[in-house]
Amino acid sequence: MIVDFTKLNRLPSLPVVAIRLLEKFTDPNVALPEIVRIVQTDPAITAKLLRAVNSAQYGAGRPVSDLNRAVNLLGKKAVTSLVLCFSLSEESMCRGAFASLYKSVWLQSIVQASAAEQIARRHFRGMEGEAFTIALLADIGRLAMLKTAPQEYAAVVDRSAREGLSLEQCEEEAFGIDHRRLSLALLNHWNLPKRFSNAICRRTSAPDQLASLPADEERAMTFTTALATTIADYFCISPRGLSFALMADLGAELFGMTPDNIDALLKETDRAVKSTSELFETDPSQLGSPTDLMAEAMEQLCAIASSVHDGQTEASVRSRLLDENGQLKQRIQDLVQRSCLDALTGVFNRGSFDEQFTLATADAMIKHDELGLLFLDADHFKKINDEYGHPAGDAVLKRLATVLTSAVREGDIVARYGGEEFVVLLNKPSLAGLESLAERIRAAVEAERIPVDGGGVIRVTISIGGALFVAPHSDDTPGNLLVAADSALYEAKDSGRNRVLIRHVHQCGSEMTASDR
Ligand code: GH3
Ligand code: MG
Ligand code: MG
Repeated sequence: MIVDFTKLNRLPSLPVVAIRLLEKFTDPNVALPEIVRIVQTDPAITAKLLRAVNSAQYGAGRPVSDLNRAVNLLGKKAVTSLVLCFSLSEESMCRGAFASLYKSVWLQSIVQASAAEQIARRHFRGMEGEAFTIALLADIGRLAMLKTAPQEYAAVVDRSAREGLSLEQCEEEAFGIDHRRLSLALLNHWNLPKRFSNAICRRTSAPDQLASLPADEERAMTFTTALATTIADYFCISPRGLSFALMADLGAELFGMTPDNIDALLKETDRAVKSTSELFETDPSQLGSPTDLMAEAMEQLCAIASSVHDGQTEASVRSRLLDENGQLKQRIQDLVQRSCLDALTGVFNRGSFDEQFTLATADAMIKHDELGLLFLDADHFKKINDEYGHPAGDAVLKRLATVLTSAVREGDIVARYGGEEFVVLLNKPSLAGLESLAERIRAAVEAERIPVDGGGVIRVTISIGGALFVAPHSDDTPGNLLVAADSALYEAKDSGRNRVLIRHVHQCGSEMTASDR
């Protein structure tokens, strides 16, 4: 189906009041009483505006019941962006089969607008209203397509998710136009200022092209819309690793933001979206918690980092995240390192293990629970590197991590302790359970055949040292557990490798060998 541009008026039809406000948006000669007169023509919008000015987000101090005062307090641009939101949220609030799709599309627009407002608040004071409005309208074509052809659009969204194709490509194939171009056509149709469409149009340019734009208000809005777009993608579209990386890249390149600045911006955006949810009729319960979002992004980034390592990166990743030498950009490398996962294997890294270990031992001491720890070290790993090369060694480490993660139960912690050494921390295992898990892992690794480039397979074995604490209570327990498992590992090595040795550590610190293959 082709969208017929002569029928643009079938697309989101903004109420007269919104169109008239938009016309006055950048006209410096418009006085506030004129804005009041425009708003007054729509009693429903007037009521909502008064509700907004009295809400926590726009908190006016004492109650405001007079439209004149409300418009004076908010200013022309904030009034326009609020009126736009009220009109569009009404457009989006349909019931029936496509209600949840409408809700998620509308939520993404509000996240984008709120992010832009927060960015402007930090970097372009006084331009918050404009930043909000531009970002709100930047992808309005999505809402338009959904309204014009809900069934077809739902199929497009579904196909994009299922086949991993870009939304724009699927829209183009279904409608002959993608939502970005449609958004621009609508802005043009509504006679919005050229700098709105310029900012929207240029937001997807490469960071260095953006950075070379002349320094003016249009550039400020382009930067803001570009970063806000990646933030909305990050919040609303899974998997979010690539949008996270792009967001970090744009934040650093265009605004000099550190990872902590980005973190703070994400939190503020999350807060803003939640505090305006009633006003703008969004359902923020669809947004995951900031920690979950970050963990999901890091997981994808770690997978990308290790695929780059193997030279197997997908084309979509290549252009955006790699430098001219085909290496993952340093900034993204830093992000991966700052995360809690090991970039090569995707299991927890040492720093994260140390933190989780401290928490788990404290918890076990309070609850008098058992805690089990396994140290696993690849046997003669140096020889594997020497014989097959470092990349093959890396492939072996990745396979070891896969064997470990598939052997343990959910809730158990697998981490790379360093080099070719891994740890597994188990909550409330029995001695027999700990032994049998260790033995299963040992045997599974021994059975692995890891293919090497150019033919042939690598075989590898591991030695495992373990310790089980029963009702630990003394202050130095965490250290004891580590020492016991580590010394068991070295004994396993000394007694011939490819074996399991578990120590049963009593609360008084005495030890006994419980298992020795
Ligand atoms: P043992 O059975 O006593 O454990 O012998 P080993 O050779 O495994 O132990 P050693 O400590 O002598 O060597 C460990 C090797 O692991 C040396 C190091 O180059 C290699 N290694 C450490 N980290 C990595 C990595 O990330 N990738 C690869 N390919 N090799 C690594
Ligand atoms: Mg070692
Ligand atoms: Mg080793």
